Amino acid sequence: MSTFLGLIKEIPGISVDRFDGDNLTSSVFFLSHCHTDHMQGLTDAFFEYIQSSDKYIYCSPVTKALLENKFRHKSHCIKEIDVNRPTVIEYRTRNDDAIVVSVTAVSAGHCPGSVMFLFERDTVSVLYTGDFRINPKDLSKLKALHYSGQSKLIPRTFTKIYLDTTFLSNDYVSFPTRQESIVKICQVSKDWLGKDPRNVVILECSALYGSEFLYIELSNMLNMKIHVRDCVYEIYCRIAQLSCHVTNEPCSTRIHACKRKISSPGLHCGVDASNENIMTIIPSILKWRNKDTSVVGEWDDVKPRTFNVCYSTHSSLDELKAFVQYFHATEIYPCVVKTEEASVTYDLLEKIRDQSDEQVTVNPTYRLSLSRRKVSRRVPFKSEYFSSDDESS
Ligand SMILES: [Zn+2]
Ligand SMILES: [Zn+2]
Repeated sequence: MSTFLGLIKEIPGISVDRFDGDNLTSSVFFLSHCHTDHMQGLTDAFFEYIQSSDKYIYCSPVTKALLENKFRHKSHCIKEIDVNRPTVIEYRTRNDDAIVVSVTAVSAGHCPGSVMFLFERDTVSVLYTGDFRINPKDLSKLKALHYSGQSKLIPRTFTKIYLDTTFLSNDYVSFPTRQESIVKICQVSKDWLGKDPRNVVILECSALYGSEFLYIELSNMLNMKIHVRDCVYEIYCRIAQLSCHVTNEPCSTRIHACKRKISSPGLHCGVDASNENIMTIIPSILKWRNKDTSVVGEWDDVKPRTFNVCYSTHSSLDELKAFVQYFHATEIYPCVVKTEEASVTYDLLEKIRDQSDEQVTVNPTYRLSLSRRKVSRRVPFKSEYFSSDDESS
């Protein structure tokens, strides 16, 4: 859950992922993705306010489509920005200072439409990651976050990174890649469906958005669409990459992601399946806290015919380490800090930074200053293609 309050203090007049309180004094707004903890204050009243003040909210094209579905007739307040291409925005702050900022949206691999924002103004460059999960192998493919050298790309230096620290914790050191989790889910689904023609699979996914890549892969592999609730179907139909993998006809498929998380056992969408014919797959990460995540999936100890799979849309501790050690930043701000674990989060972040450069200096007020690393110490990430861990844009 994001605890970031919205204002990017290095660049006056902009707010990201918070739309209440002091943020209302901002001149320009950005939304990284459509999860409710990043949409606080985003209401009809907010849209009326920005409409009357001639202000806009910027987001990726997919996020715009999702927003339009929620806020009908507000399209004129929402501007989409292309992914990977800088967009220049000029505005005046409430003190009437004229500001020119360049913003580049970069795919964040978290859920459909999720992006990071790179803000650049004069000598200041700020990377706001939003929620993200990017396979370390793919960091070198984030072209917009690199300088282009003579023959190779060099990871950029940022003034500050606002970092998704959801799993910056020793309880979540490493996760299987999403591809590994999906392969496991496909395997158990295929086995179950092959056993008996009456068998069906229920996918119990927690967030409204975040499991879509799983739907696409599963649907491709089993050659079957995924049944989702009508309200979700309506939204997915707006996203080209998704629409052909989901259905609103329950009896046309044997894979169902149509249940709300908390509900009584069984299917409630009109499909006639007895409990013995239903297998439930729960992709989740919380069940794997402090557990061996090399075991990608296992049967539930308590619930019958229930298979738990380790699946995350946020970066693990190891992935966060790889990210902050690959890119350079003078300061890092953790965007997810639980009050009771604040000191642990800060300590861990400092430790990660320590490992990335011997010359790190740590200010007790928690400002991490980091000298520029030598190029030779950069972790060599290689990948031929953008892995399945980044399909959100
Ligand atoms: Zn999120
Ligand atoms: Zn169903």
